[in-house]
Amino acid sequence: MDNRNVIFRSSCGANAQRIADDAVSDNVDPHNPIADVISYQSQLEKIRLKKEKRRLESENQSLKEEITCKQCHKHEIEMVFLPCGHVITCESCGTKARICFSCKQVIKGIAKFYSA
Ligand SMILES: [Zn+2]
Ligand SMILES: [Zn+2]
Repeated sequence: MDNRNVIFRSSCGANAQRIADDAVSDNVDPHNPIADVISYQSQLEKIRLKKEKRRLESENQSLKEEITCKQCHKHEIEMVFLPCGHVITCESCGTKARICFSCKQVIKGIAKFYSA
C-alpha cells in the first residue's frame, strides 16, 4: 500500500468514492474494466459520428449540386422553362437560353420560381 492511499483512507466524506475506487484497483486489476467499456463505447460513438458527418457532407454536396444552375454551375437555379417545365438554370442563364438545355425544346417563355 502506498502513502497516497493511506492519506485518502485517513480522510473522510468527499473522498469516500475515491477510496472505494482505490480499494478496487488495489485488489483486482491495474486498470478499471468499467473505464475500458466506457472508452470503447466512446470510441464507437466517435466512429459513428464521423460516418454520420461524412454522410451529411455528401448529402449536403449533392443537394447543393441539385439547386445549382446546370449551365454556369455558379448560381442557384431560379428559372423554369415553358412549356417543358424544366427547372435547370439561374436567372442570367435562363434569360439567355433559346432552347431548353435538358430536352432541347424551344423555350416559349420563362418564369422565375420561388420555393416557399
Ligand atoms: Zn447559370
Ligand atoms: Zn426542357
